Amino acid sequence: LKFLQRYRIPYTGLKNGHHKFDFEVDNRFFDEFDYSIVKEGKLAVSVDLERQENMMIVNFDINGYIFLNCDLCLSDFPFDVHIQERIIIKFQEDKEINNTTEEILVLSKNEHQLDIAPLLYEYINLAVPFHIRCTSPGNMENCDPDMIFRLQSLVNNADNKVVDDPRWDILKKIKNN
Ligand SMILES: [Zn+2]
Repeated sequence: LKFLQRYRIPYTGLKNGHHKFDFEVDNRFFDEFDYSIVKEGKLAVSVDLERQENMMIVNFDINGYIFLNCDLCLSDFPFDVHIQERIIIKFQEDKEINNTTEEILVLSKNEHQLDIAPLLYEYINLAVPFHIRCTSPGNMENCDPDMIFRLQSLVNNADNKVVDDPRWDILKKIKNN
């Protein structure tokens, strides 16, 4: 997991005020997460960290694209991603930290750096739409018509058979769309 170490921000020496950090996320990042929905992409991450006396406010600006697989024609296509997120970081003396929420991250006072890799992973995977269509607004590409035709004839041929194969469910879903 050495690769992910580059996504740590050492904040101990930072003065109060705003500090900027830039990161890049590409396939090597997604390779580190076995269960990532997103496997490929290229994104620029701009982090604005505001250090205050007893807390930090961290703003994320993530822009770029990820590759998704269209539910309908099964082709891979680039999907534009623009994410803005904010997290507030508080510090606590206690070793036992249990009130971490989605917006407030509580770190021990013994910590020296902020690991943003899990945050980036979560933000980017949450940007994946529930229904993935390569015809979605903002994309110039359309569903591959040849592929749709071939898939539909497969579905039509399979309609009269009883097939216990999850792939047929996918094909039926396509037909019903
Ligand atoms: Zn498509």
